[in-house]
Amino acid sequence: MKSINDVSFSGRKVLLRVDFNVPVDENKNITDDTRIREAMPTIDKLLGDGAALIIMAHFGRPKKGGFEADLSLKPVADYLSRILDKKVVFTQSLDFGEISSLASALKPGDVMMLENIRFYPEETKGDEAFARKLSQLGDCYVNDAFGAAHREHASTATIARFFPNDRYFGLLMENEVRNLNKLMQNPQRPFTAIIGGSKISSKIDVIKNLLPLVDNLVIGGGMSYTFAKAEGKAIGRSICEDDKMDIALELKAAAKAKGVNLYLPVDIVAGDSFSNDCNVKYCPQVDIPDGWEGMDAGEKTVKLFTDVIMNSKTILWNGPVGVFEFETFAKGTDAIAKAVAEATDKGAFSAVGGGDSVSAVNKSGFAERISYISTGGGAMLEFLEGKVLPGIKAIMD
Ligand code: AMP
Repeated sequence: MKSINDVSFSGRKVLLRVDFNVPVDENKNITDDTRIREAMPTIDKLLGDGAALIIMAHFGRPKKGGFEADLSLKPVADYLSRILDKKVVFTQSLDFGEISSLASALKPGDVMMLENIRFYPEETKGDEAFARKLSQLGDCYVNDAFGAAHREHASTATIARFFPNDRYFGLLMENEVRNLNKLMQNPQRPFTAIIGGSKISSKIDVIKNLLPLVDNLVIGGGMSYTFAKAEGKAIGRSICEDDKMDIALELKAAAKAKGVNLYLPVDIVAGDSFSNDCNVKYCPQVDIPDGWEGMDAGEKTVKLFTDVIMNSKTILWNGPVGVFEFETFAKGTDAIAKAVAEATDKGAFSAVGGGDSVSAVNKSGFAERISYISTGGGAMLEFLEGKVLPGIKAIMD
């Protein structure tokens, strides 16, 4: 893999695809700039060489085709301009004539950012003619958008065809691939995967792919209720995918057959409605009365999971173990973040991915103590499922 660090981009116009799909509040203030900060080493290297940058990124999921004020990248371009302390030429227009003339006027060290690339319907179709038009704006291609690497889109994959000798991974991409390979190839043991989140359906393939690799599988959060119900336990009105109960039992049997220790919640903090200020009931077993729903891991569960984590040498965490967005139900997820940080202090290699788990470690202040935080939710999951990501393949081919 040719690293951008081995190449000089002096005097070149670099088409740089990044993942700046950051969360914003109702006033368009960026509430978590992790993805922007993580792309800075690549941006600094390219600008330091004396390149001009043409940054391509998407924001949200435009549906209409064309400009949508709510999904404009303008606030992100302004933010980038502030942290770079230089002007970012933002091409508000979607017209390629205008964009091309702005691109041709770029001087070494200049930064230009295109409007939300998904305003063009051709982007998500991976359209070749559109990718060619994009490619003509610059003279080489760097992909640093790990978070979009599982998409076979024009700016993440197709465009690479037009730069057979001049396409590179950015430093963030390189780092993601190196760390994920470290997890999947020859991990230090015991290897523990903690999988949480709302639904089992989105994590089945990951669990299947991880089972031959891990020593311990910890399942928490909303998805654990599908396991609990399948085992005949009372779950009240907790989130559950009834049509996935068979799969839950299959995964349980597969873990047993492979000698993987499977840990599920043993006690629950429940609420009588899905809100922060609902009434709260502690259920000492997974036996939730009617009218109540499981919202967080109980203290016995936290202790059980923490002990497993503290005895691990490799830890992968994807998905919260409770509705951590509500302060009342964030204790379990906070405790997991703390345990992962403490195990890392003791020498374990830890990887955290998935937007929610990443914001949980950021919120709890443990991010600095995690070995590696992935910027890709879906991309990380697909990598862990064993799939070849189109954004990675396009550079490697
Ligand atoms: P995912 O995107 O599948 O990783 O799920 C993340 C979401 O799972 C977060 O928004 C959590 O609030 C949610 N979640 C975690 N535990 C529960 C639960 N017990 N009931 C409902 N949602 C949950």
